[in-house]
Amino acid sequence: MNINSDVLIVGTGIAGMYTALNLYKNLDIVMITKSTLEECNSYLAQGGISTARDEKDKDLFIEDTLKAGNYKNDIKAVEVLASESLSNIQELINLGVEFDKKNGFLDYTREGAHSVNRIVHCADKTGKKVSEALLKQVIKRKNIRIYENTTLIDLIDKNNICFGGIATNEESIVNIYAKNTILSTGGIGGLFKNSTNQRTLTGNGIAIALRKCIDVKDLNYIQFHPTGLYEDKAEGKRFLISESLRGEGAKLVNINGKRFVDELLPRNIVSKAILEEENKTNSKYVYLDITHMPKEFIIKRFPLIYSECKSRNLDITKEKIPVTPVQHYFMGGIKVDCYSRTSMENLFACGEVSCTGVHGANRLASNSLLEALVFSKRAANIINNNIRNINLKCIDKQIDNQYATNLSLLNKKIVLKELIKIRGDIKNELVNY
Ligand SMILES: Cc1cc2nc3c(=O)[nH]c(=O)nc-3n(C[C@H](O)[C@H](O)[C@H](O)COP(=O)(O)OP(=O)(O)OC[C@H]3O[C@@H](n4cnc5c(N)ncnc54)[C@H](O)[C@@H]3O)c2cc1C
Repeated sequence: MNINSDVLIVGTGIAGMYTALNLYKNLDIVMITKSTLEECNSYLAQGGISTARDEKDKDLFIEDTLKAGNYKNDIKAVEVLASESLSNIQELINLGVEFDKKNGFLDYTREGAHSVNRIVHCADKTGKKVSEALLKQVIKRKNIRIYENTTLIDLIDKNNICFGGIATNEESIVNIYAKNTILSTGGIGGLFKNSTNQRTLTGNGIAIALRKCIDVKDLNYIQFHPTGLYEDKAEGKRFLISESLRGEGAKLVNINGKRFVDELLPRNIVSKAILEEENKTNSKYVYLDITHMPKEFIIKRFPLIYSECKSRNLDITKEKIPVTPVQHYFMGGIKVDCYSRTSMENLFACGEVSCTGVHGANRLASNSLLEALVFSKRAANIINNNIRNINLKCIDKQIDNQYATNLSLLNKKIVLKELIKIRGDIKNELVNY
């Protein structure tokens, strides 16, 4: 079976959907996702989206991002991120996202390594609320077709030019021809035993890039979030206790109730301090304590975290929360320029699968959703301007079921193999296939 389109978008998280909404309405767009629309990291985001508060805050926002990233960031990309933050947050509001307000103004919260409060949020369900608002708009567009449970296994390409992708669902193998293809396939958390990510996110986009010799960058930069909920016999993804709890005043203490670190330092430093404390006290966790805050505030500000913990018999208004570092985010990815262009012609990468360089060695809290927005919009703009000059060549790429299954398996293994090669120190954190 063949599908012809102008643009193929692989992944329906915030990066994929925002790209689709920023493409011209007369383009024929196909979106595919390997699972359901809800099963992506975008739906899980809690804390919020960072933004320069105004023109004057841009320089400080840039400095905070660089400092958190150990100055390994791409400075040009960071400047773009900060400069275009305000307009993209406004665009989300125009698209129907209702961020929390205080006295009629946006209620900015704070997270680790931000010098000021500059994170917009929808309580602690920001990702779900933003995703739902975007999806509502996407569904209205007659020019966008969405296929769920459809997995990209390979690109259709020749001489380093991309002409679309090959995907499988349970019934068939589909060639989706496209003048431009966008990989927005998310992160790699599904490759780790303990991760906050959806288990389905196993770095497929990175695997395809590695196989096709498309440039990748900073694959050694993997972020561990300091405060995953510690559960003795947990299976599946780990529940995140958002950094915004610490932003609102929650304290980290060891099992003897003693504070040991400034909670608002960058994530990599706090994670390291927790692991050292766990070793010293011979414990698998430390505690995050928010019990000194008013109960009504906790329940209103963190409804998701309150109810998820309650369902596990933990009342966070009365009890300390056991937490430990878990894999959370991938700073590395497919190397792109400031317009999300990869090293393969007509192929773009947006969101967590890409590496714009904005995060350097360690992502500043809440910069991920912002990166997805800013650089997806830039990709869409470039495509809108250039697509009429592209001739689509339908290259025959017939493959059989057996080959498709082999490619699927290979895509799962290939990133694992690469990570073991470059990050031998985290080998025990990875799953076995
Ligand atoms: C628990 C949690 C909390 C977070 N909180 C925040 C926060 O407060 N602020 C912030 O900025 N960031 C946060 N993040 C990070 C942020 O949510 C993600 O980085 C961001 O949502 C990634 O968006 P994306 O569109 O790139 O990928 P995703 O939303 O993960 O979407 C990836 C898509 O690709 C699809 N896909 C993957 N492989 C294939 C394939 N082979 N074929 C077809 N489809 C495929 C998936 O099915 C999915 O639709 C959080 C992450 C987690 C896990």
